Amino acid sequence: MSSVIQPRLLRRMTVRRVLELLQASGPSTRAELTRLSGISAPTVSKAVGTLLESGLLEEGEAPPISLGRPGTVLRLARNRTQVIGVVLDARQCTVVAAGIDGTLHDDTAIRFAPAQTYPALLDQIAEAATELMQRPAVRTLSLGLSIPGLINRREQRAVFSPNLHVTDGHSPDRDLSRRLEIDCSMHQETHALCLGERMYSGSEPLDDFAVLEISTGLGLGIVTGGRLMEGHSGLAGELGHLTVVPDGRLCGCGNRGCLETVATDSALAQAVSDRLGRTIDVDEVARLVRSGEIDAEAELRSVCHYLAIAIAASINLFNPSTLFVHGRLFDTRPGLFAEVCDLARRRALGPSVADCSIRRAHWTKAQGAVAAAIYHILNSWGPIVDR
Ligand SMILES: [Zn+2]
Repeated sequence: MSSVIQPRLLRRMTVRRVLELLQASGPSTRAELTRLSGISAPTVSKAVGTLLESGLLEEGEAPPISLGRPGTVLRLARNRTQVIGVVLDARQCTVVAAGIDGTLHDDTAIRFAPAQTYPALLDQIAEAATELMQRPAVRTLSLGLSIPGLINRREQRAVFSPNLHVTDGHSPDRDLSRRLEIDCSMHQETHALCLGERMYSGSEPLDDFAVLEISTGLGLGIVTGGRLMEGHSGLAGELGHLTVVPDGRLCGCGNRGCLETVATDSALAQAVSDRLGRTIDVDEVARLVRSGEIDAEAELRSVCHYLAIAIAASINLFNPSTLFVHGRLFDTRPGLFAEVCDLARRRALGPSVADCSIRRAHWTKAQGAVAAAIYHILNSWGPIVDR
């Protein structure tokens, strides 16, 4: 029995290794893949054949090296095969197509305000995804959903989202798989952002890092030893619901004074809206401050004070080599991100912060959802190969 299973498993692991190498090193020839993988040339060739057949790879012409004939270069498919990324957010849902190499086809993005009932929301997403799946001469392999709040990985169910209750208790990945007849997967948004940072970072190896998401809620995604830290059921990283103001503002989770009520883009927007007597979002706050129409220094000072605490706590707890912060409030004025980093450095433990680079996140939630869809495809080809 095992003699039949082992070669099959090994073949799948080789396929996955080839995919990972192409993702990390970009377009490569068969010879380069053989050298980089340390696997025999016929085995690599077989894996490449399987991947070409499944549409995950495309062949192109490599630039000629000196006098030789141009060779054939292999790359992850960009145009003929696609994945779909879906970002579900409290105010806006985005559905976008991308190549297997992660290239976002921005012109395909469809945006809408999420419906208030689950069946209507599912209709909206299915309609947008169907439109993208009908693009001519393109095959869709997978759809990745990025969702805020808690997702129970063992039950594969969105259990509770403090800022978007419409998905609570549901499994939109399962429901969409049935409707669209493609493979759909669901990922917590900070976990998806971690996959995005890892996939799009290219040649820079990222094995121990964290992403602090501060746009709507506040969540922490942690990658340690190259693996996403999900906890027992996938609920890890909810730093945003740590109480920091014991009798503070009511949070979407039902508690009071949670970190996410005072240290996020939405906390800043809320504080400025309260003062102005009208509701504005963080982009509008940034625009008004930049144009000199309002002064939001007091609100910014307060939000940055708590954000520095969140950054310091993340560094002290998880010792990441890099902490990426994903938020838009830094666009309010030049130098603000550096100021927050200085505050965080003063609050964190010296040796921990000396070991950590604090940076703004490079990638969007849409890229996170796309990376999650691609990660799901990779996983379907077998276990992670330790390097
Ligand atoms: Zn809370």
